[in-house]
Amino acid sequence: MKIHEFQAKEVLKKYNVPVQDGIAIKDLSEVDNAISQLQQRGINQFVVKSQIHAGGRGKGKLYNPNNRDELLLEGGVKFTTSPEKAKEYTQKIFGNILVTHQTGPEGKKVKTLFIAEGLDFKKELYLGILLDRSVSKNVIMGSTEGGVEVEKVAAETPEKIIKVWIEPSVGLQQYQARKLAFSLGFEGDSFKNFIKFIFALYKAYEETDASLLEINPLIITNDNRVVALDAKMNFDDNALYRQKEIEDFRDLNEEDPLEIEASKYNLNYIKLDGNVGCMVNGAGLAMATMDIIKLAGGEPANFLDVGGGANKTTVANGFKIILSDPNVKAILINIFGGIVRCDRVAQGVIDAAKEMHINVPIVVRLEGTNAKEAADLLNESRLNFEVAKSLKEAAEKVTAVLK
Ligand code: GDP
Ligand code: MG
Repeated sequence: MKIHEFQAKEVLKKYNVPVQDGIAIKDLSEVDNAISQLQQRGINQFVVKSQIHAGGRGKGKLYNPNNRDELLLEGGVKFTTSPEKAKEYTQKIFGNILVTHQTGPEGKKVKTLFIAEGLDFKKELYLGILLDRSVSKNVIMGSTEGGVEVEKVAAETPEKIIKVWIEPSVGLQQYQARKLAFSLGFEGDSFKNFIKFIFALYKAYEETDASLLEINPLIITNDNRVVALDAKMNFDDNALYRQKEIEDFRDLNEEDPLEIEASKYNLNYIKLDGNVGCMVNGAGLAMATMDIIKLAGGEPANFLDVGGGANKTTVANGFKIILSDPNVKAILINIFGGIVRCDRVAQGVIDAAKEMHINVPIVVRLEGTNAKEAADLLNESRLNFEVAKSLKEAAEKVTAVLK
């Protein structure tokens, strides 16, 4: 699960990670009050920050939602020393479409703004914590090249990224924190402040079951404070049951409507860019199915795992979700009847197909328990299913119907 920057900063603040003061607003009527509150707290520099679940906002562009050719503003993060200018920025950003390199050309509507204290700094760095699956350890990554896209640094000058792997049984060690601090060029007071910062940050990452915590940029202020100027946090969905406070941060505005629908039925659904809708039981088989569709020259429109123990209802719900995606031009149903019986799945597919208006070809491959009965049901249904015997045949059939 992803959260907004302002929410991540609320979390970090609780762990004593230094962040700047700020107020999030969800309506333009709240702007005046937010700015005057910040002024009362002695703040006279402001940064107006678009809150969307995507990065690259600083270099993004804002467009009029009613006329997508009309460029309203360059930059979805705006710094100013004038409260009037700050207000002007909020009006140019709020409710408009922000396009960044991470949103895709369709962009995202800005529905929340974070009006915060604008800080001066002498240096921008990068800091990230994530799970390195290849060694089953968390890794802290740091770079002196902050503010810019870290992917670019990683690709072009990987030696500029310093990595420290954390042994789970002992946690982050002093020597590791110092190694990071030295390598990133911290000195004097900022060195001490960084050590405190990284321990607090790592604690926040661990205790909230985060899967990614990225501070880009991490800044050194002119008076040598170390502050998280940006914060991105992702969380492990499987741990949300014990992270109620984090779960409450979920912003459905930012999620794909079909993914929200799927999560209601406990389906593992992820929308992708292709046009072959896939319905599969079991994550491994779902991955294999996507691979084989690609091998046959197609592009999957989604990942959908209806679960190893899928029943008629889950299958029907999954089928409806796939059909609601306008990009889907053909569907491949690939079910292995191990726990679930194929004939039950087939009945689920038939029932759902009868309920919905279907105008795309459907290829079905059912293998395992009662596969024969399932094939009979599909053939007798007189609905337009193509039955395939093998996975290879199914993938070829579905890509062939698209051509
Ligand atoms: P992102 O583009 O989505 O990663 O948004 P960031 O929060 O990282 O902001 C983008 C850039 O705006 C940063 O790299 C900074 O250079 C600049 N910026 C953000 N906040 C401030 C601030 O308080 N003061 C100054 N001077 N620059 C800021
Ligand atoms: Mg950033």
